[in-house]
Amino acid sequence: MVQDQIVSRDISDRRVIDAMLKIPRHIFVQEAFAAQAYNDKSLPIGEKQTISQPYIVALMTEKLALTGTEKVLEIGTGSGYQTALLATLADRVYSAERIRPLALRARKCLDSLKLFNVQLRINDSEGSPIGWEEEAPFDAIIVTAGAPAIPEVLTDQLALGGRLVIPVGTDSNQQLLTITRNSDGELQYDSSVECRFVPLIGKQGWQA
Ligand code: SAM
Repeated sequence: MVQDQIVSRDISDRRVIDAMLKIPRHIFVQEAFAAQAYNDKSLPIGEKQTISQPYIVALMTEKLALTGTEKVLEIGTGSGYQTALLATLADRVYSAERIRPLALRARKCLDSLKLFNVQLRINDSEGSPIGWEEEAPFDAIIVTAGAPAIPEVLTDQLALGGRLVIPVGTDSNQQLLTITRNSDGELQYDSSVECRFVPLIGKQGWQA
């Protein structure tokens, strides 16, 4: 998977490559899909949600430019696979998921890998804002669901020099954006690939 899908597509951050070699992806998918866990595609994880294609996971992670010291926020824990990579590559991870059974399963997977630097939060109440205000600012924020626009509540939680990676577009097709808060506090925007994520649900997203 790593050589054929990640390195061959120009992911060059050695730490991201090593983390992907280290974290077993099959434990994060349902048993019925375990044989497909290393294939070049997203897979269902139950509750009408998906674990993202390995290449997109690698690309988003690389764009966060983690060095090991960062405090990271993830919106959309899902299976916990992306969370496990973040926990391997950063100092502390805060991850929010709106579907309780997914969050509980992700917790078990993360514990089985002894990744204890992750705090999970279940955001299942109607109208709860995304983000994690009490723990802000974050050096890196990743949103793993498609948003209709860049949520200001998230750019407000970016530290100086921090990066937000988020798919933005319609509920079926998005552009992967990286927003950086520079040392003067200004936001800089960069757009990369087209992608297709399940929708971000809630106040800053789409209706359930
Ligand atoms: N990163 C995940 C992985 O590695 O398995 C994939 C995440 S999946 C594509 C998107 C997740 O975002 C879903 O589990 C969905 O329930 C969650 N989600 C959608 N809207 C959310 C919100 N407002 N807050 C938290 N999680 C949300």
